[in-house]
Amino acid sequence: MEDCLFCKIINGDIPSERVYEDEFVYAFKDIDPVAPVHVLIIPKEHIASANDITAENSLVISKVFEAAAIIAKEAGIDANGYRIVNNCGELAGQTVKHLHFHLIGGRDLSWPPG
Ligand code: AMP
Ligand code: ZN
Repeated sequence: MEDCLFCKIINGDIPSERVYEDEFVYAFKDIDPVAPVHVLIIPKEHIASANDITAENSLVISKVFEAAAIIAKEAGIDANGYRIVNNCGELAGQTVKHLHFHLIGGRDLSWPPG
């Protein structure tokens, strides 16, 4: 996708602080962190939102969660706990139309989220 910010980050056209990468996913530090650990995990394939997950492309979702477990361990937040968040659509506050999962941790997280 030519005009997609996160596709440009995957391609290296826009810089990012990479924390993990494999064949399926790319993960990097959020530019505006809301917690001591705030990583975005994205599929390398352009999928616009959770609404666009299908039987054909859903393998990458398991890869996202495999990556999350690795990243959480490396960040040292796996034992205390963390949150994985996906915002889908306008009311949820999705600002980038490339599916992404926020991995947030390193502090107390309130529930329910705002
Ligand atoms: P969302 O509101 O769920 O769509 O989340 C988008 C996230 O992308 C926000 O937390 C932003 O801070 C983050 N973000 C936007 N631009 C960049 C960038 N160039 N590098 C890293 N994170 C970014
Ligand atoms: Zn994209």
